[in-house]
Amino acid sequence: MKLTLSNTFSTQLPADTNTINEPRQVLNACYSYVTPRIPSNPQLVSVTPQVVTLLGLINEDVLSKDFINVFSGVTIIANSKPYAMCYAGHQFGNWAGQLGDGRAINLGEVQHNNLRWAIQLKGAGRTPYSRTADGLAVLRSSVREYLCAEAMHHLGVPTTRSLSLITTGDAVLRDMLYNGNQAYEQGAVVCRVAQSFIRFGNFELFASHNDIASLRQLTNYTIKHFYPSIEVGTPQGYLQFFKAVCNATRTMIIHWQRVGFVHGVMNTDNMSVLGLTIDYGPYGWLESYDPNWTPNTTDSQHSRYRYGNQLNVGGWNLVQLANALYPLIENVEPLQQILDEYTEQCASDYITMMCRKLGLTYVTANDKLLINELELALQLIETDMTIFFRNLSNFKKEQTSENNNVINIIIDAFYIPTEITTNVQLAWVTWFKNYALRLQLETQTDTERKVAMNLTNPKYVLRNYMAQLAIDAAEKQDYTVIEELQLILQQPYSEQPQHQKWFAKRPEWARNKIGCSMLSCSS
Ligand code: AMP
Ligand code: MG
Repeated sequence: MKLTLSNTFSTQLPADTNTINEPRQVLNACYSYVTPRIPSNPQLVSVTPQVVTLLGLINEDVLSKDFINVFSGVTIIANSKPYAMCYAGHQFGNWAGQLGDGRAINLGEVQHNNLRWAIQLKGAGRTPYSRTADGLAVLRSSVREYLCAEAMHHLGVPTTRSLSLITTGDAVLRDMLYNGNQAYEQGAVVCRVAQSFIRFGNFELFASHNDIASLRQLTNYTIKHFYPSIEVGTPQGYLQFFKAVCNATRTMIIHWQRVGFVHGVMNTDNMSVLGLTIDYGPYGWLESYDPNWTPNTTDSQHSRYRYGNQLNVGGWNLVQLANALYPLIENVEPLQQILDEYTEQCASDYITMMCRKLGLTYVTANDKLLINELELALQLIETDMTIFFRNLSNFKKEQTSENNNVINIIIDAFYIPTEITTNVQLAWVTWFKNYALRLQLETQTDTERKVAMNLTNPKYVLRNYMAQLAIDAAEKQDYTVIEELQLILQQPYSEQPQHQKWFAKRPEWARNKIGCSMLSCSS
């Protein structure tokens, strides 16, 4: 197996001079060298062929012992000097100080086809940033990260990718719900891949130490490699960089809203400066449309990271990044202006995105109202977001809404059909009347609109119970559900009639089941 490494991060940025692997505060450094822990019995669970190809590897490599050894941490590839990145962050609205890669170990950057891919082993043991934790990951959370990152990629959402999922053969002690019930679970390592794993928190760390030289060095590095059209080293360039991060963040979160994804832990240490969805923990997909929903029980009191608040939180996090970059710019006004633009553009992008979901090719002044009324109607009774939007494309422009035929189009989206009262019917009939009127302004045929809508509204998403079924099987060494889901989720917008069973509302058994509706940060 041959990987061509070209390590820019660790060769162009300052290293921690201390190489002892014990928890500590690290100063004036972007990372610390650390060696992955050797697992006792690594076994390959799954690989993603597309990511194998991205890295310039071939099928034969995947079948080799070398592959398992390298991507579980047993052997270190030539020219790799593994390291953990140092970053800080705001967690749940509070400054948390230094955090860093507590269990992600970077092997380096693989160069292939003129692209560079940073590769990380998540769950590969303790680092100087592990604090009091063990540096490990359990199979449960690893299956979730492995499947979800790839599902997001195929949905068209910017994200880190997943190369491989390997069980370590070691038991890991976890208190899954933080309620005093500890139990051993199987350990696992996911190899994840991205152009870069740099987070808002990497910049916040240096700003908090008033280490402006390192801050400047990191920012120059990031601009040079990831925003190459921006000038390096001037306040104007730093402002453009900040603006570019705002744009990337907005684009990412608008996609989340489109597909009904709730990240669950939008702390600034989990915000990529490339606008990639990163750190899949207690995330979830909206099943019934509910803007107040968050899957993360750790956040249940304030629901800070609820579905309907993600664009706002993105803005709050960008304020923290603006504060961190301020010493390089020393001018509040243009930073504030860019933040204001973020807020304005979020509002207009949201409307444009929702219009697309409705099959509208342009935005009119009244569309905001149509969307607001839709959001209210969707909350009248439990209504499945994915099924609703997918089936909405069956609506015909000339269809009258006089009788119940409009309800029949969306009836499969309702969780409890007996809740469809006369009032609920009336609300939908009224909404469909307005929708039909709006569609009269469009020139697309019903068929054209359906094709366009079905490219925006996915048929298959990784519903929480689906991930849980994959986990339940994987814990018994049955990896067929992982394989099946990975296959379906590669084409989330296609009909795939042979997989129709996964185009279904959450089953009743999953309504309040741990892992399906409730997740904690324990992973
Ligand atoms: P997260 O909420 O998963 O993004 O994690 C927040 C911080 O805790 C990051 O610095 C992680 O590296 C660290 N962390 C989470 N779980 C572990 C673990 N099991 N061992 C060491 N560090 C961890
Ligand atoms: Mg994290």
